[in-house]
Parts: sequence; C-alpha cells; structure tokens
Amino acid sequence: MPKRIAIIGAGPAGLMTAEVLAQYGYEVDIFEQKPSAARKFLMAGKTGLNISHAEPIQTFIQRYDHAEWLSPWVKQWDAQWIQGWMKDLGIESYIGSSGRVFPIEMKAAPLLRAWLKRLAADGVKFYYRHRCVGLSKNQLTIENQSQRFTATYDAIVLACGAVSWSQLGSDGAWQQWLQNDEITPFQASNAGVLKSWSPFMQDCLGQPLKRVDAWVMPEHKTHGDIVITHYGFESGVIYKLGRDLRSRLAQDQNMQLHLDLLPDISLDQLVKKLQGNKKQSLTNLWRKAGLDQVKINLIREVVAKNIWSDAKQMAEQIKGLTISLSGFRPIEEAISCAGGIKQTALSSQLQLQSNPYVFCCGEMLDWDAPTGGYLLTACFATGRAAGEGIHHLIK
Ligand SMILES: Cc1cc2nc3c(=O)[nH]c(=O)nc-3n(C[C@H](O)[C@H](O)[C@H](O)COP(=O)(O)OP(=O)(O)OC[C@H]3O[C@@H](n4cnc5c(N)ncnc54)[C@H](O)[C@@H]3O)c2cc1C
Repeated sequence: MPKRIAIIGAGPAGLMTAEVLAQYGYEVDIFEQKPSAARKFLMAGKTGLNISHAEPIQTFIQRYDHAEWLSPWVKQWDAQWIQGWMKDLGIESYIGSSGRVFPIEMKAAPLLRAWLKRLAADGVKFYYRHRCVGLSKNQLTIENQSQRFTATYDAIVLACGAVSWSQLGSDGAWQQWLQNDEITPFQASNAGVLKSWSPFMQDCLGQPLKRVDAWVMPEHKTHGDIVITHYGFESGVIYKLGRDLRSRLAQDQNMQLHLDLLPDISLDQLVKKLQGNKKQSLTNLWRKAGLDQVKINLIREVVAKNIWSDAKQMAEQIKGLTISLSGFRPIEEAISCAGGIKQTALSSQLQLQSNPYVFCCGEMLDWDAPTGGYLLTACFATGRAAGEGIHHLIK
C-alpha cells in the first residue's frame, strides 16, 4: 500500500510538495478551504507573474533574511530550474531587462491550469471547500459544508501561507496548532509605509518621485521610483528597505527614510546650481537644478522654510532628505509577511520538531524577501524540500 500524505493548502508551496510526492508514488490528498486552488498565486499574476530572478545565485540568496537556511533549497531549485519546470508544463518564459523571470503570457492562470492538470494525472486528489480545523499528531479534523470528520495520514504537510490577503485563504488560523515559541510573530512585508501629509501634497498623491536613491542605513542604498500615496509611500524601492525599517522599529528607533532626490549630480555641482541668479523664483531655480514638481512639493512639505534660500543647506537636504515615517500599512494589505514558523522549530527536512508527522513549507515559514520573484522561488523550493524530506524519512 502506498503511504498516504495530506497537504493542507493548495497554494504554490503545497502544490509543489504534492508534485514531488506524487512522482514518488505516494497517495496525496490536498485539502483546500477555498473553492479553487492557489488564489494568491493567481492574484500575483494579475500585474505580471514575476516568478523568479535570474541574477547570480550568490546575490539571489542574499535577498532573503534567513539566507543561510534557505540557501541549499533555493540553490537546487533556482530560477533556471523554474524556467525548465514551466517549459515542461508548456509555458515559455523570458528574463526581463531587470533580470526578473516571467512567463511570456505574464499571467499565472495558464501555468496553474497546466500544473493542476498534471497533478491530477499523477493521482493527486483535490478536496476544495475543505477546511482543516484541527491537527493532533497524524490526525486531521476537516470541515466542509456538510460535515466534520477526522482522517489519519502517514505524514501531514502544512502549506497554509502567512496572514496577508486573508480573503484569498491565508488566514493564519493554523497558528493555534503550534506553540507560541515556535512562531516569530508576523509583520507586514512588501507593504507601503505611513507618512501623514498636509493638504498641500494633494496634487502629488499617486505621483512618482522619479529615479531617487533611498536608504534607511547608508550601506543599503537602493535606487528607483517611489510613489507618493494618500497614506505615505509605496513601491518596490520601499519594499527593498522594509527589512531595515522593521529593524529600526524593533529597536524602538525612529523609522526614518533618507532620499537623494538628485543622485546623478554631486553635492558641489548642486550647490553651484542653487546659487544661480538671485532674481529667479525659488521654484525656477529648483527646476533648473533638475527637480520636478513632485520633488519640489515634497521639499516644500518637509524642509524648513528658513533654509530654502541657502544654497548649501538646500543642496544637503536635496541629497539627503530625511522623512520620518510612522509605520507600515496593515498586514492584511501586505504582499507578503515577515515572521512565521522558526527555523529552530523545524528539522533540516522541514519536519516539525514538536510533531514528527508534520512538515511545513512556503510563506508560513520564518523567511522574508523583497518582491522580485524571490517569494515564489522560496515557496517552490521549500515545497519541494518538504516533499523530499517526507520521502527521505518515511519511504
Ligand atoms: C498582490 C500580490 C502579488 C504578488 N506578486 C508576487 C510576485 O509577482 N512574485 C512573487 O514571487 N510573489 C508574489 N506574491 C507573493 C506570493 O503570491 C506568495 O508568497 C505565495 O502565494 C505564498 O504561497 P504559499 O503556498 O506559501 O501560500 P498561499 O499562496 O497563501 O496558499 C496557502 C493556501 O492554504 C489554504 N489554507 C490555509 N489555511 C487552511 C486550512 N486551515 N484548511 C485548508 N486550506 C487552508 C489557503 O486557502 C491557500 O489557498 C504576491 C502576493 C500578493 C498578495
């Protein structure tokens, strides 16, 4: 008799574990509380499914906060592996100029359809609208619309996701099955940050600060556009700084964002430009120095008026504008979550130390990364690692 494995959650991590186990010949049941699979994965595809990143693996690994932990898995199932895996499913992919990897069609739906079809052909059984409500040793309690029942398995995989976008299924209810000390509390990651604006900034809401350098700690400078929103700032640049911002919060320090609004010119050049012709209006002077209206408005909002006419002090501000933030957008809105099941709560096979029947994978684990394809890559890799772990331990 083949051994029976239950997987809770039909997101990318759970589906990847199912793929490994089905190919080894296990009987795999996936319980998914939503009426269909991988709703967050489909949502990720709405703006272009950035599935991985083709940068050198040593750089790639360093994008994760727990780089050493994830390293063996992400190295084994890297961007190149993902591209090959998609190709096997009939989905061609390409590497964008930034190194990001996308399916050519950009969407997640064709890939998901092909994947689910292949999993079903490999014998994986899907139980939708089946919510796991209890876990004790190797016994699950499952609830659907008409009944509540228990089922016993040779191994159980938790692939329930983290706690953001809960309407897509990842509601974090699984945390009650673990001890508090097994979980690092979740925090918003890849989320907007908060700054309250005066009415003067109304015209800038939704507008980008183009091509700025941004940092929290000078050794982690990042470059790109930042969008001004009604609540503060949003963009990939902000997401990249999330880890540093969170660490400032954890140390009870001010969350301060620093911006160089004109990174292409030196401080000395800028001082000269700002000295300009005294008859010019300040706005004209600033424009000629290279600032657009959004940047000018931000300066007027943040910099004390008494230094606006002082070329040296203004140049210093423009090249190092400090903005105090008051926190992150709510975790529910975050693209991903930092925190989750701790490395110390798991074996190197992703088996729960407190319950050897249970393996865990995906975003519910305590790792984090910025957007750029790193999230899905780690979900796939840890999903495969959990499948391999089960095979290694119970075959
Ligand atoms: C708007 C948005 C855009 C994104 N874009 C990208 C991107 O471009 N690139 C990238 O790499 N990442 C992206 N991500 C992140 C990526 O989608 C997630 O990291 C990934 O989906 C997590 O996979 P997972 O399998 O761990 O969890 P999930 O995808 O959250 O899946 C968990 C599943 O478990 C089910 N479940 C939970 N609890 C139970 C239970 N008790 N019983 C039964 N079922 C249960 C849930 O219903 C859900 O289907 C994006 C996320 C969002 C929100």
